[in-house]
Amino acid sequence: MNLPEKGIKKSELFSQMEEVRKNDIKWKEGKAFSLVFNGGQELSDIIKEAYLLFFSENGLNPSAFPSLKKFENEVVGMTAGLLNGGGKAAGTMTSGGTESILMAIKTAREWAKKHKPNIKNPELIMPISAHPAFNKGGHYFGVKVVSIPTRDDYRANVEAMKKAINENTIMLVGSSPSYPQGVIDPIQEIASLALENNLLMHVDACVGGIVLPYYKKLGADIPAFDFSVPGVTSMSVDLHKYGYAAKGASVVLYKDKELRRHQFYVTTDWPGGMYGSPAVLGTRPGGAIAAAWAIMNYLGEEGYLNLIGKIKETTEEFKSRIAKLKDIQVAGDPDMSVICLISDTIDVFQVGDEMAKNGWHMDMQQDPNGLHLTISAAHATSIDEFFKDLEVAIAEAKGLGNKLGGMKTAMAKGLLKSMPKKMVTKMVKKEGQSVGKTDARPAKMAPMYGMMAAITDNQDRETLVKDALDNLFSQRV
Ligand SMILES: *Cc1c(COP(=O)(O)O)cnc(C)c1O
Repeated sequence: MNLPEKGIKKSELFSQMEEVRKNDIKWKEGKAFSLVFNGGQELSDIIKEAYLLFFSENGLNPSAFPSLKKFENEVVGMTAGLLNGGGKAAGTMTSGGTESILMAIKTAREWAKKHKPNIKNPELIMPISAHPAFNKGGHYFGVKVVSIPTRDDYRANVEAMKKAINENTIMLVGSSPSYPQGVIDPIQEIASLALENNLLMHVDACVGGIVLPYYKKLGADIPAFDFSVPGVTSMSVDLHKYGYAAKGASVVLYKDKELRRHQFYVTTDWPGGMYGSPAVLGTRPGGAIAAAWAIMNYLGEEGYLNLIGKIKETTEEFKSRIAKLKDIQVAGDPDMSVICLISDTIDVFQVGDEMAKNGWHMDMQQDPNGLHLTISAAHATSIDEFFKDLEVAIAEAKGLGNKLGGMKTAMAKGLLKSMPKKMVTKMVKKEGQSVGKTDARPAKMAPMYGMMAAITDNQDRETLVKDALDNLFSQRV
């Protein structure tokens, strides 16, 4: 593909962009339950204005921009304050939860080099519900990730984590709450285990770090989950989720500065000068830092309390309406506004596909098969329509169960089980290569997810997903 011969006129350019976004998920209408955290027009205007004001500034060198230095330090300080950092906690802003988690793992590795020099092959232990950013971080930094199945209530199985500790273990992980089912792991038990074994302990509060302190203030029964728990040594908190900041804003926190030093990267012999960088990125968008500072100060304690109060009410409304439905249940007992819908009578993926016909977007999950809902205040306006469509979708899925889609999935499962391994691999290859081929969003995900669930070989699953990625990121040359 080449650049256009001549530049495109501004008006034409923007109308083209408006045109292509027509296929995108309808988050403004309250129809998306992941990817976009919609705090409404007023908040969105604040972060946009702040972002644009610092659009060109670069957080790479805070000494050149005392403004960004102030914003970042105050954002990290306010976040640490919310999480009982006790005046000693220290951190940095990052581009997102993934970067925060990568940094916590890198820090743990460096810490272990210093404090446990005999360890050559470091390992971290986490519940399998912990975010894939930990697997990614382990992969990037050469730390083996030991994933432990959760208990029946989807919370970390601390006994099993204890058994997995060996001479190579450097860190334990818990989530507050986990992304898949929205439940808080037994943080206090994991942290004591870490203390007893002289290990680091990371609490992933990417999705819950801003919400849970206010849930507590609103009277919810939330166990201690932050630096108030002895043994917790680092935390990740995304501001671009429930902090309602602009995308590209998260905070990684450590119990003290000494631990944080292991995160920094420095090289001193570059002809371009001494180079010190706090986290993964080099150039860091000033807009994201400024917008985070702006929204935290715009909302303040009172604003977050109101906003999260609304989120809590809306979530309770969702839960109580779901409780009235026969064929769909909430998985486990979620602690905040992240919930997962499951069913033992119908195929929830088909429900997801039926809902998608009306523009609803819910992520599909596995083990157990489920639909994921991250609830925002803005969903209060779409809740009636959601349940109207959901009832229809359930009825459709029930009918379909014995017909087309369900049969296809069931057939795929049955066939795959009895097919020779080579054939399965070939079929998987074909399926993967068809994903993401067109510009439109795929109309049906159930058959694909059904098939994925039926594939037992991890290599085949990986191939399928890598083929899909190849297609999604295909440049037309
Ligand atoms: C979103 C999320 C992450 C990853 O954050 P990104 O900003 O998507 O990189 C990690 N952990 C949990 C619990 C999350 O919800």
